[in-house]
Amino acid sequence: MFETLKKIAFERVGGTEEELRALGILADEIRKRGLEPKLEPFEVKTFRAGKGTVELAGDPPVGFDVNPVGLSGSCDITGRAQYIEPAKLDYARCEPGCIVLLPPHLNYDIYRNLVRLKVAGFLLVHNPGKTPGFPIIRHAFIEKFGKIPGAVISYEGGRKIISRKDAVVRLHTEQEEFVGTSHNLLAVIPGENEDEEIILGAHADSVASSPGAVDNGSGCVELLGLLGHFAKNKPVRTLRFCFFGSEELGLLGSREYVRAHESELGKVRLMINLDLGGDIFGENRVIITGSNELTNYIDSRNKLRGMGLRVTRGIYSSDNMPFARAGIPAISFGRSGLGASMGHSADDDIRNVNEASLRSMANIALAFAGEMADAEVFPFERKVPDDIKDEIEKYFRERSGDGA
Ligand SMILES: [Zn+2]
Repeated sequence: MFETLKKIAFERVGGTEEELRALGILADEIRKRGLEPKLEPFEVKTFRAGKGTVELAGDPPVGFDVNPVGLSGSCDITGRAQYIEPAKLDYARCEPGCIVLLPPHLNYDIYRNLVRLKVAGFLLVHNPGKTPGFPIIRHAFIEKFGKIPGAVISYEGGRKIISRKDAVVRLHTEQEEFVGTSHNLLAVIPGENEDEEIILGAHADSVASSPGAVDNGSGCVELLGLLGHFAKNKPVRTLRFCFFGSEELGLLGSREYVRAHESELGKVRLMINLDLGGDIFGENRVIITGSNELTNYIDSRNKLRGMGLRVTRGIYSSDNMPFARAGIPAISFGRSGLGASMGHSADDDIRNVNEASLRSMANIALAFAGEMADAEVFPFERKVPDDIKDEIEKYFRERSGDGA
């Protein structure tokens, strides 16, 4: 597993050549295990990590390097700097044309308020102690509200700006944006029972500037491990393996899969998602976007066998979501810890991953997937309960502006 992870641990943003190169490496691995992979293309709005600077006017002027927020365009703007507390956003005021500083997470409501406030631009202040990355503005927000230029600034830079009274800053960013072709890489192991299927998935793309070892090269090589096992041990139910593209651009690959394969989803009893793994100083966890029954089963199994899984029921921001939204119970295996906390930055490299951690997560996922694949009668209803459905809709509204 570790050898394959090394091969794909390079920046592979959705819709770029690098993403396709990583999928090519995974496709070769699928062929080595005796299956024929298939690539399904889809268009995405994507970008290359750009460059930017902020100059703080004064005597002496001070300059900082910043990372343009992906898909936020390029700009050269000057305005008064102001920090806005997220909890006050709905009624905050600032002078039009100001440049707002915010904590590092953009969602629909925050973006909507930036538009309402007529800001010229925004600076996301990065968490201290981690290399600033390149978050994106969801394309859906831009389509709805238009583009506001923004960048990520270090904690130190943000602090210096806000410490100066009536600070005026000049924000200059340059980035290349383009329509690219992203892909889902698929492979199928037909079962004896053709009426029931299980989807197993992991996203293959990374965020800009990150080698994406934990997030989610790890899930990809774990998924390959499962594929190799079932290629040799024929399951009762049909298993569909999906290496999704463009998860980091807004779950675009899994959304595309659900859209393109809608007529086949009635057969799918369960979706198993692998996102984040291999973390040396971590612990294995599972999040069940489904019923209490399924959750209790996994939790009891966990305790009986001393698997050391942290079990939670709820939503999880990954490729499980579009499936759960389509009414398919979805569970996400992953490993959280110190290495996973480097996710979405240049620090997410293979130094934070070891083979033993990869295997421990893969073995748990394999044992569970095996039981579900071979059960005499599938033990759970194909149903997502109403309380979880509400959470799912809220998630898609906040993250993607769906139905807003
Ligand atoms: Zn991920």
